[in-house]
Amino acid sequence: MGKTVIETSGVVKGKVRDVMFDLGGGVIFLVQGADGKDNQIDVSKVTGISEHVVVRSEPSNESGAPDYGTACKFCGAAKPAQERWCPSCGRSQI
Ligand SMILES: [Zn+2]
Repeated sequence: MGKTVIETSGVVKGKVRDVMFDLGGGVIFLVQGADGKDNQIDVSKVTGISEHVVVRSEPSNESGAPDYGTACKFCGAAKPAQERWCPSCGRSQI
């Protein structure tokens, strides 16, 4: 508890405020975001827990920020999955 939750894309989701158990035996983290709202994150999305809790990025993108879901084949820079051209080296990914 109190750990910072970070998505694999690097987005900070907030801090773990509570841990709940659902009826099916699953575990849900109650995460308080920077806006003070609680988000429920299913533990199945958690890819690792160390200093921080790391969760897989949501497929939907509500914030409108670029989704750096993939890395450039050539230079390895993070780039939005839907982008054909690498923003770093400018090479086509197709
Ligand atoms: Zn590149």
